[in-house]
Order: sequence, then C-alpha cells, then structure tokens
Amino acid sequence: QAKHLGRNTYASFNATMNRMAQQRVTLEADLRNAASAGQLHLVYQPKVSLHHGHIIGCEALLRWQHPTLGMVPPSQFIPVAEESGLIIPISDWVLRTACRQAKAWADAGLPPLAVSVNISMGQLLHQNLAQWTLDMLEETGLASELLELELTESLIAQDIESMIVTLAQLKQAGVKLSIDDFGTGYSNLSYLKNLPVDTLKIDQSFVRNMLTHAEDETIVRAVIALAHNLRLNVIAEGVETREHCHILRQHHCDEIQGYFFSRPIAAPELEALVRSGKHLDMSDPIG
Ligand code: C2E
Ligand code: MG
Ligand code: MG
Ligand code: MG
Repeated sequence: QAKHLGRNTYASFNATMNRMAQQRVTLEADLRNAASAGQLHLVYQPKVSLHHGHIIGCEALLRWQHPTLGMVPPSQFIPVAEESGLIIPISDWVLRTACRQAKAWADAGLPPLAVSVNISMGQLLHQNLAQWTLDMLEETGLASELLELELTESLIAQDIESMIVTLAQLKQAGVKLSIDDFGTGYSNLSYLKNLPVDTLKIDQSFVRNMLTHAEDETIVRAVIALAHNLRLNVIAEGVETREHCHILRQHHCDEIQGYFFSRPIAAPELEALVRSGKHLDMSDPIG
C-alpha cells in the first residue's frame, strides 16, 4: 500500500515537473517575441518626498501582457529572461523606454522627475553596465541626473571590486544609484562606505511588518540612521497605509513609495498626477 502510494506520488511529481518544464519552454519562446510583438510595457510608481510631500521621481516597472496567460508578473518572467539570456535585449528595451519617457517629461516642462530602472544579475554578467548606461543617455538625450539605477545587495556583492569601479564611473557621470531591497541581502556593511551610492531603499517586508512587529520597526529605524550617518538618502518601499507613512515621518525617512500614495501607473496617468499637484498632506502632526 505504502509502496503503491509512493509510486503514485512519484508519478504525479514527475508529471508536475514535466508540466513545469514545458511551461518554462513555452514562456521562454513567447518571451523571445514579446518585445517586438508589443506585449511589454512599463508602468511607473511615484516616489514622494517626506520633506515636502511632492512627487520627486518614479520607478519604472516592467509588465508583460501575454496573449493567452494575461498579465505575467516580473517575479515569474525575469528569472526566465535571466537564464535564457533574453534579459539583455529586454533590459535594453526597458532602459531605452524609461529614458525616452523621462526625456519626454522633461521636454514637456514637467517638474524634474527622475526615473529609476532595476538592474539584474544577468545584465552584469553579460555587459558593461557603465558603458551601456552612458550610451543610452547619449542616444536618448536624457540628463544623467534624471536617471537612477536600482541594484540589489547580492548583485553588488557578486564582484565588489569591479562594482566599485563601475558605480564610480556612473556616479562621476551624474547617474544616481540606489541599493534596492536593502536589509534582505548578505550585508557586508563595510562595503557600504566604499560604494558611491546615493540612496538606500528599505525592503518592503520590514515596512509591511512594522506595525505588528517591534523588531521590524527597529530595523527600519536602524537603516534610516545608518543611511543618514553615511550621508545617504533613504526611501521606504511598500508603504501601504497612513500609519506606515506616519511612522516613517517620525523616524525621519526621506522618501516613500507604495500603494498608499499610488500604485504603479501608465506614463500618461503619472504625468496627469504630477500636473494635478497631488501631494502628501504634511500638515498631519508627527509628534
Ligand atoms: P522591486 O524593484 O523591489 O519593485 C517593487 C515591487 O513592489 C514592485 O513589484 C511594485 O509593484 C511592488 N509594490 C510597490 N508598492 C507596493 C505596496 O505598497 N505594496 C506591495 N505589496 N507591493 C508594492 P513588481 O512590479 O511586481 O516587481 C517585482 C520585482 O521585479 C521588482 O522588485 C524588481 O526586482 C523586478 N523588476 C520589475 N521590473 C523590472 C525590470 O524592468 N528589470 C528588472 N531587471 N527587474 C524588474
Ligand atoms: Mg526596484
Ligand atoms: Mg525593492
Ligand atoms: Mg524586490
């Protein structure tokens, strides 16, 4: 009986593995044509200053509208893109699209709106990040100060020596740099003082649990203090409620990003939001 059960379980496990492998092959094949088929687009999520309450920038986030599967989240297709090498042409499309958009906003006379782009592991292994970025700025005519790159700790730790050189080149050119999902990677804090980054981005898991777990609030406070002592800017992501926002103001966080202010939205919507002057209510006492 047990043996029988075991064999069945194994057979169904095998079937599941086959199905998953199959799906992956299909996903990869579909992803190969996604950009040229116009299935990729970017949405933009505002970043808001906690000093004056206004929108100061946005993060470009990739979306894939698959013809039959519907919206495939980046957590599902970015890994496929990385393993297949498709991350290179896709990232090229993302950076070009984001830079053109930011340039269009600047040309349209919008208040300075920096755009942040996520950088992934596969890109670092396959291309010269600094050269690629600077070439793209030249091609699109975007001012370097209006571009920010978001890198994760594990990505930076991969090859710290060459990363310092690369980031220094970008910083020298005026590009802004931030460390995404800060606090979730393998932090060797001593590297921070040598990295020419501008901003630490507190991971949303800490922010989400801040109200219910004192430890998470402690971590949030510690990251804010660490950033400020290193003269870095600090932003909290995943800010979903007024309470989150309130606590972050109390702890002197510089900026927030999250559903509380706005979900990621299409470019024309973001432009309308900026033009409308929508901002955080700063009259709220923070005492
Ligand atoms: P990330 O860079 O940390 O981006 C933040 C994620 O949190 C986004 O998910 C965003 O939609 C979501 N988010 C924002 N505010 C809130 C909130 O208040 N609550 C909650 N629960 N979530 C919030 P998304 O768009 O699904 O992207 C997931 C990850 O995929 C990103 O994490 C990033 O690592 C990666 N990714 C997205 N676009 C790109 C891209 O163009 N290139 C690369 N290489 N990676 C990308
Ligand atoms: Mg990011
Ligand atoms: Mg993040
Ligand atoms: Mg993330």
